[in-house]
Amino acid sequence: MSVLMDVMRIVVHDRGPELRNRLRPRLEQAALLRCVEHSQSVTAVTIHARENGWFDSTWTTCCADLERQAVAIVKDRC
Ligand SMILES: [Zn+2]
Repeated sequence: MSVLMDVMRIVVHDRGPELRNRLRPRLEQAALLRCVEHSQSVTAVTIHARENGWFDSTWTTCCADLERQAVAIVKDRC
């Protein structure tokens, strides 16, 4: 196993740290995902806060499969 761990880049666009704090457990879980086909983890995610706990997420992954798994964990509402 490699000692070099890829760290998922997380950018949260919000007025305060609240959304990021609430999402942290889910984002940490998503960061642990590894694509079975490409042996890659999620490269990056950008979160855009919306109203009432909703948010948009933009993922950078090796393939749609991994993105689907990440979205299933993080979903789109706090
Ligand atoms: Zn992949």
